[in-house]
Amino acid sequence: MYIVGLEGTAHTLGIGILDEKGTILANLMKTYKPKEGIHPREAANHHAKEFVPTLEEAISKAGIVRSDIGLVAFSQGPGLGPCLRTVATAARALALSLNVPLVGVNHCIAHIEVGRLTTDCDDPVLLYASGGNTQIIAFTRGKYRVFGETLDIGIGNMLDKFGRENGIPFPAGPVIEKKAKKSNSLIDLPYSVKGMDVSFSGILTAALNSKAPMNDLCFSLQETTFAMLTEVTERALAHTGKKEVLLGGGVVRNKRLREMVEVMTEERGAKAYAPPGPLCVDNGAMIGWTGFVMHKAGSETPVEKSGVIQNYRTDEVDITWRK
Ligand code: AMP
Ligand code: MG
Repeated sequence: MYIVGLEGTAHTLGIGILDEKGTILANLMKTYKPKEGIHPREAANHHAKEFVPTLEEAISKAGIVRSDIGLVAFSQGPGLGPCLRTVATAARALALSLNVPLVGVNHCIAHIEVGRLTTDCDDPVLLYASGGNTQIIAFTRGKYRVFGETLDIGIGNMLDKFGRENGIPFPAGPVIEKKAKKSNSLIDLPYSVKGMDVSFSGILTAALNSKAPMNDLCFSLQETTFAMLTEVTERALAHTGKKEVLLGGGVVRNKRLREMVEVMTEERGAKAYAPPGPLCVDNGAMIGWTGFVMHKAGSETPVEKSGVIQNYRTDEVDITWRK
């Protein structure tokens, strides 16, 4: 049996195909690239237009035929309503036409499960830093619990907004990383850790209002916000007594963030793990794999319960597949 995983919480349409051992046979991503900020309806139209050709391409890349598909998993939330609804509609249609079970997956949890599949970590604290999401998550008492999160925008959105106002095209993160490497001069930006939570909008405003040279601003944005994430991740490690950190989300492709987390974990006698790049960002394979482990543990999402959940909380899901 093969599993199809469908991702569409934001700008990326992802379609992945795996076997039951977790071997990824295809993992295609088609990303809507906005000139301005992400427009949910336009992103949803992009996903609708790309869905059928991308599915065909994935099936042919995986070297299977449609009738080999035994399970359809889709990201049920959290995310942008129009995007979620478009991909959920496609998921229902696919599952019904193939007459196979459907499983709705929490997107944030999929970032953890794909890390557990593809790295040596088993019970990590996840630092999930993406465009729309920023959370520190760990498994305790039957749930993946959120130990800390952003109180306003996701760190990736902050970087992309800063880039947009400064003529850097989306996604700005990689360009900011390059510019940051050319500086060593730390500008004072508001470091905002509140308890276990973080916030980025004040830093964004301060950076946008600053007259400092661009490379110094990029360097300082990274140093300040990555230190905040590393601090909260360290506190979650201390609190849970866990020894592993897993990195997930597009922003963890950043080498400086990885370096900071690695230094922190080494100092604590813990270890940091990251899945290969394409599995850090939003992708269909992670949804497919999570849907499969959920289904093996008895979960299924009947069509009448497959409505999307825009604010789907990580700790709403009963983690039946872990002890
Ligand atoms: P995701 O939402 O997980 O698909 O990731 C997309 C986000 O990751 C965007 O906000 C990008 O700007 C950001 N991103 C990608 N590569 C990097 C990088 N090297 N450094 C910082 N941010 C990055
Ligand atoms: Mg994501």
